[in-house]
Amino acid sequence: MKINQVDVLITSPGRNFVTLKITTDDGVVGYGDATLNGRELAVASYLRDHVSALLIGRDAHRIEDTWQYLYRGAYWRRGPVTMAALAAVDVALWDIKAKVAGLPLYQLLGGASRRGALAYGHASGFDTEALFDSIRAHLELGYRAIRVQTGVPGLESVYGVAASTKIGERYDYEPARRAALPTEEQWDTRSYLRHLPAVFEAVRNEFGPDLPLLHDGHHRMTPIQAAKLGKALEPYDLFWLEDCTPAENQEALRLVRQHTTTPLAIGEIFNTVFDYQTLITEQLIDYVRSAVTHTGGVSPMKKLFDFAAQYQIKSGVHGPTDISPVGMAAALHLDIAIHNFGIQEYMRQSPETLEVFRTSYTFEDGLLHPGETPGIGVEYDEDLAAKFPYEPAYLPVNRLLDGTVHDW
Ligand SMILES: [Mg+2]
Repeated sequence: MKINQVDVLITSPGRNFVTLKITTDDGVVGYGDATLNGRELAVASYLRDHVSALLIGRDAHRIEDTWQYLYRGAYWRRGPVTMAALAAVDVALWDIKAKVAGLPLYQLLGGASRRGALAYGHASGFDTEALFDSIRAHLELGYRAIRVQTGVPGLESVYGVAASTKIGERYDYEPARRAALPTEEQWDTRSYLRHLPAVFEAVRNEFGPDLPLLHDGHHRMTPIQAAKLGKALEPYDLFWLEDCTPAENQEALRLVRQHTTTPLAIGEIFNTVFDYQTLITEQLIDYVRSAVTHTGGVSPMKKLFDFAAQYQIKSGVHGPTDISPVGMAAALHLDIAIHNFGIQEYMRQSPETLEVFRTSYTFEDGLLHPGETPGIGVEYDEDLAAKFPYEPAYLPVNRLLDGTVHDW
């Protein structure tokens, strides 16, 4: 079964998505997500200009060999652009293999280990009242675990806080703005650290002790600040504190870990298992946050989770709306199959996106399931997609109150 056509498809039904389409000589089609928010065209070019010609004529069944050929063969390894391109090839080939087998992908990964994957949604509000409304709205949608992000006194816009909490309007948070230049946000860590524990106390008082609550620090703290926050949040029993420090320095988590029992999650901007080497072997984290789309696909993610499992570290796959429905579906097949599943991030896509990408995954009673359609279970409407041309969009840039550029 040879690959005889490779297409890079770009569409923007509300936000930009890059999708790889691989077609075999007997007409089987596989899709992979290659979306890198704010740098979409770099991955599209990598695939179009440097990968597609290498795939023509290759045996579509040889997924591992093709992955190693592209990873080792390029010589220049790792990085978000390379690994997103590789992920798209890997997922498209798994989609093809599972379609040929007539099975949903999770069956080829070992079969189901659970009924469904517990999902968490993004609740947010600038003040407590808006935050409570958002949490209630998510509970009504069926979410059984909630990420809590809040405004900070003195700051006009804050990461993770939606512009509107109206369901069906901007029901979820999307930070990338369509514009020629990135927007700029403000940040002050001391104000944030002073404010956040009181917000979690209020949420616990209102919603009780059972509801799993998560929080994303978005790489903004120093190790000692993160340690202080983890300690301050202990009475509110968080499911996890995410990305508390910038992710590059794995040793930072050693200091945080020494001071707090708040569970730690990290890795949405990581690309390979090597970014986790110290974190996993020294058990400095509790959850691996990589995205299938940005970490080379299903093949390396399965190896990463199996490695983490030896240290009782669980999965928490990255899943905001800049992961396309193709990337989300691939994640759900892994979530269902692996033993050390923890939780799955899940933001609902816009109605326009779900018309371009027709999915077979379901969300019921707080659990996601990839469905029983052979392959990964996503079809792509190319005619409709063509009506939504690419528009430049960027994630925000963050500055401290004195103007210094800070981690966003
Ligand atoms: Mg995050």
